[in-house]
Amino acid sequence: MAMKPLTDTLGRPLRDFRISVTDRCNFRCTYCMPAEIFGPDYHFLDKSELLSFEEIVRLVKVFRKTAGIEKVRITGGEPLMRKDLDKLIAMISDVAGIDDLAMTTNGSLLPLHAQRLKDAGLKRVTVSLDTLDEERFQRINGRGVSVKKVLQGMEAAEKAGLGVKVNMVVQKGLNDGDILEMARFFKGSGRILRFIEFMDVGNSNGWKMDQVFTKQQIFDTINFETPIEPIEPRYKGEVATRYRYSGSNEEIGIISSITDSFCSYCNRARLSAEGKLYTCLFASKGHDLRSLLRKSEDNEEITKAIEGIWRSRTDRYSDERSSSKSASREKIEMSHIGG
Ligand code: SAM
Ligand code: SF4
Ligand code: SF4
Repeated sequence: MAMKPLTDTLGRPLRDFRISVTDRCNFRCTYCMPAEIFGPDYHFLDKSELLSFEEIVRLVKVFRKTAGIEKVRITGGEPLMRKDLDKLIAMISDVAGIDDLAMTTNGSLLPLHAQRLKDAGLKRVTVSLDTLDEERFQRINGRGVSVKKVLQGMEAAEKAGLGVKVNMVVQKGLNDGDILEMARFFKGSGRILRFIEFMDVGNSNGWKMDQVFTKQQIFDTINFETPIEPIEPRYKGEVATRYRYSGSNEEIGIISSITDSFCSYCNRARLSAEGKLYTCLFASKGHDLRSLLRKSEDNEEITKAIEGIWRSRTDRYSDERSSSKSASREKIEMSHIGG
């Protein structure tokens, strides 16, 4: 559908829509939902606070009509903790013009759900896995879940016909020593591995700059063993810098929000499970769309709100990270908007 893009104050179009379907998770990754903070007394959203599947699909349609979005990614918390997720997938994949429907997951529940998700219209999954070392992985995920379980999830996804990518968050001194083993393991597997710099999302993971293993360091680590070369981006604003092992088509990616930010191309809108719209991963506040959804059956007001929010968007947190303006800011937790 050729339509005029909806652009923000910096000329960035809204293209990519990420939907968090739950704030709950069966893991307690130390860098995302540390168990000391997300403990038994933590107040997660009640069911009535979550957007219903119908409400989510209504918003997908409005975003499609208003901004021409073609890509939707389902995330969380852990999206597979949301009951009957395959029903939502089927409803979104029925929306005309949504050509790319993907999900980010910790993979542990994929053996139970992969086939149903594929049958419902899901195309691809990104599975998070930070190390192949059992002891370290169990410590990182905070729930003693084994690497095997996640690998079984990837296998189940592939068996069902879903494309699989892998995300590894690299933290200096924790798992930077596992980069090469991960690269070797996934080379030739058909699963593209992407390394992510540890980010200062939220206010609970105690992020410090000296815990960041940088894009350059990740590049050097791999390139030292097997030379890699950059691949031309497929489109402006691609989040991962892509590389191939020289002389092959084997690909890896590095996502460098910290040391090589990409705000000038950022085209993502994020919806929290309770229906707040965030225009930046590091935003302090979201815009409440749920009350608009529940106020009237008419989409006019929602359309206007989305247009107004995006047109006035100025976010470029990662570009400004080191400035004092960004340093003390309250930020939404990653488990609310899903990365
Ligand atoms: N639970 C799902 C999962 O883990 O894939 C989906 C939600 S999770 C918040 C989305 C992605 O964000 C995961 O790949 C996770 O590793 C990444 N992530 C979480 N906290 C992060 C941080 N502080 N820095 C970089 N990436 C982070
Ligand atoms: Fe859960 Fe994903 Fe956050 Fe880990 S990164 S705690 S799996 S939401
Ligand atoms: Fe986009 Fe915000 Fe990340 Fe910049 S910091 S790339 S504006 S989400």
